[in-house]
Amino acid sequence: MKKNQLLLLGDEAVAYGAFHAGIGGAFSYPGTPATEILETVQAIVREAGADVWCRWSANEKAAYEEALGMSYAGRRALVSMKHVGLNVAADPFVNSALTGVNGGLVLACGDDPGMHSSQNEQDSRFYADFAKVPCLEPASQQEAYDLTLHAFELSEKLGLPVLVRLTTRLAHTRAGVSLRFDPGSRETPPPKPLPDPSDWTLIPANAKRRFRRLLSLQPALLEWSEKLPLNELRLAGPRGILACGLGWNLVAELLPDHPEWSYCRIVSYPVPVDKVRRLADHCDDVLVLEEGYPLVERQLHGLLGPHGIAVRGRLSGDLPEDGELIPEAVRAALGLPVPKVRPVGEAVVPRPPLLCKGCPHADTFRAIAEATAPYENPGMFSDIGCYTLGAFPPYRAVKSCVDMGASIAMAHGASRGGLRPVLCTIGDSTFAHSGIPPLLDALRSQADITVVILDNGTVAMTGAQGTMLSGEPLLQLLRGLGAQDVAVIEPLPKNHSKNVETIRRALESPGVSIVVAQRPCIHAKEQPCGACSGTASPQREVRP
Ligand code: SF4
Repeated sequence: MKKNQLLLLGDEAVAYGAFHAGIGGAFSYPGTPATEILETVQAIVREAGADVWCRWSANEKAAYEEALGMSYAGRRALVSMKHVGLNVAADPFVNSALTGVNGGLVLACGDDPGMHSSQNEQDSRFYADFAKVPCLEPASQQEAYDLTLHAFELSEKLGLPVLVRLTTRLAHTRAGVSLRFDPGSRETPPPKPLPDPSDWTLIPANAKRRFRRLLSLQPALLEWSEKLPLNELRLAGPRGILACGLGWNLVAELLPDHPEWSYCRIVSYPVPVDKVRRLADHCDDVLVLEEGYPLVERQLHGLLGPHGIAVRGRLSGDLPEDGELIPEAVRAALGLPVPKVRPVGEAVVPRPPLLCKGCPHADTFRAIAEATAPYENPGMFSDIGCYTLGAFPPYRAVKSCVDMGASIAMAHGASRGGLRPVLCTIGDSTFAHSGIPPLLDALRSQADITVVILDNGTVAMTGAQGTMLSGEPLLQLLRGLGAQDVAVIEPLPKNHSKNVETIRRALESPGVSIVVAQRPCIHAKEQPCGACSGTASPQREVRP
């Protein structure tokens, strides 16, 4: 490895890019495949002794707003999250396109096509399109680093947030990356003067003005995208390929044997329309390769009109509509022989996810299963975390998992729909993320539900990051919200009968009854996360 060259994950490359861009802060909520971005910023900051704020936030919306506040104050800020986290942060994200930004603001979003660790495979490029802000889609770890640096410059030039979209394969694979500076050194731009507050106060009169400004910026966005050198166009034979983001890698390895193919590579959005038109004008058909939803394929239909050339891709059925792009599917779409490969399920023994041996959730679910056994069809709503595995045998104590914080609100709704008894399970971190408002709602309207808060003192599923609300502060908050029926259990085999009895009593008690199951995650207890230098709880602050 050369000096200033490191072997980095895509996530780590984004973190180095942001650090070297001179950020004053990085904000995030853990979520696969984006967790390592903030963890890496924390590690760099700790090593370098730099003054960069880099604590976990309560949820993605808070993270985005904190980053926006830092931008308002004139400093550069990075905010990172997984794709579904952007649903939570969508409100400030879309509105920040109208306020604009002061210090550069970059949102790094980790999409998960193929749903390796997610409940859907939504495509964040649509959010950038919807908000009318630029989006960059690197195809390598080097580009993840370079384009993050570029994104900060672009953000300040246009006065807009910029979205950098990663997908799992890039976020979680390593390659050599040449850095602009020594890993721990950087240049920090001086804070910019404070902006005009009327631009940032989105009352209708200002919002209309700011929206017109956003619309007036669109030609500049398009011009930037047309001129970006990475958006490469080659015109050769009549076969055309439009390769976006990571899809480029699947073409690049075939190109040396096919100098006759024409192609346009896309790393930036809005789509560089002129280059795409030139490709389409030159070719008989165009195959669109993109990870995620068919964003470009759809736009191409619009661009070329009803009598345009054949556009092939996920919509046309030439490529599978869901899942990651895989080499075999791309070869088949290009009419190349497809080598026989053993399906993953045959080559590797399937290993379904399991709760760790000794996990506190296992003891809680055993108690829940026994306490609810006498009821014919108890409501059992749940949430996102290791405890979602309570859906499987032998527990079968989870009947829903929709989005962060949904369990309490869904339990409340089901109880209003006449279901009895209704119980929901939610982890301490998910509760802090988005469980508090629905609990307040349930308490104020005296819903008839039992809420079991699984307090293991960490964000276990994503690697044991610090949690905001555990132990006594959690109990204090419950009391502050007005909860009167709160029981605490310690989920251990020796307490099983006692715990079953406590949950049974809670189910029979009218109104909102809460059971807090307190026992640390054994994984976090025994293997503190190296990236964060501490135990799982309390919140780890990495600040010199
Ligand atoms: S990591 Fe912790 S919470 Fe998750 S299954 Fe293992 S012991 Fe349970």
